[in-house]
Amino acid sequence: MRNISPMRALLHLFLASAVFTPTVRSQSVDPHATVTVGSASAKRGERAYGAHAIPAGSDSGTTIQLAIINGARPGPVVAFVSGAHGTEYTSIVALTRLIERIDPGKLTGTVIVVPLLNVASFEQMVPHVNPVDRKGMNASYPGDANGTQTQRALAAVAREIVPQSDVIVDLHGGDLDEDLRPYSYWIRTGQTAQDDASRALALAFGLDMIIVRDLDIAAPASTRSLSGYALSLGKTTFVAEAGHSGTVTAAETAMLINGSLGVLRQLHMVPGAAKPAAKIGWVGADERVRADGGGMFYATATRGSVVKKGHQVGYVTDYVGRMTGPVLAPQDGVVSFIRGVPSMTKGATLVTITKQLPDGPPAWQKPAP
Ligand SMILES: [Zn+2]
Repeated sequence: MRNISPMRALLHLFLASAVFTPTVRSQSVDPHATVTVGSASAKRGERAYGAHAIPAGSDSGTTIQLAIINGARPGPVVAFVSGAHGTEYTSIVALTRLIERIDPGKLTGTVIVVPLLNVASFEQMVPHVNPVDRKGMNASYPGDANGTQTQRALAAVAREIVPQSDVIVDLHGGDLDEDLRPYSYWIRTGQTAQDDASRALALAFGLDMIIVRDLDIAAPASTRSLSGYALSLGKTTFVAEAGHSGTVTAAETAMLINGSLGVLRQLHMVPGAAKPAAKIGWVGADERVRADGGGMFYATATRGSVVKKGHQVGYVTDYVGRMTGPVLAPQDGVVSFIRGVPSMTKGATLVTITKQLPDGPPAWQKPAP
């Protein structure tokens, strides 16, 4: 489905304004009286744990563990997913801890929590891809039930989690090689109701830097990520990311837990009011510097710093310490992340600079193909 239906537009209005008005229909028919994903099944007022088993196919199988907190009262269904990148530990740890923070007896609606999608990446400490098939687990939606492990796992997410969710929050955590400044992505489709609903939740999450990304959901490449795929089905979604260089700090973990609770507050699923950041640093297009080849990278700029085009942000050397070149900022903007380790190979991102939007987000613009 490419276009948003009138019913879906109404849902977005509901999510954006977050005024919970029970309808006669929701009292008489409750489509989420029992919510099931894989072996986990929760009735109203219950918390259930289980797993989605992905059997072996052309390669080995895997098991994705998850929890369902099915609130005592009907309301929106929100899925929190992380660990597509299995070494983005902060996001994974945050979601494991979010599960016990939500009391099903006090919850309105349903929360599905999937902390770790890419189990092989986590276990083997391989960033960015699933080491079993070398595919990106946030780059292959809607998956393929007859494909390799990544495709089979994503087909299960696409089949069992996305369709029954109204809202999908995709959490990331600054990968092993990313010294990352916390931020959210507000990903826009140009559909006003959908974009407004996603914006309200990104603000409620509370991170003070938001990257504005415009998608053309008619373009197949834009729906391969979880967020893009969910947007193409008319869902409300955004991405939030905190964590850096393989570390798990209390402060960054708390940002993701509190942000997730902020989303539930904004949707009136749990008591209390969301606390958006007092001031948002809106940023837009990013430019990256990639490595020409192997060598050693050293950062001289810090994550989150504001730099001018041409400002030195790092340098590279050969394996006997001889400098082979400075790394310069490709545009004015914020260092949203910079390489957190010396290792590099051809094509590796050394630094990403995002352009500041001092006047706030501009109108949606269809991106060039
Ligand atoms: Zn990630």
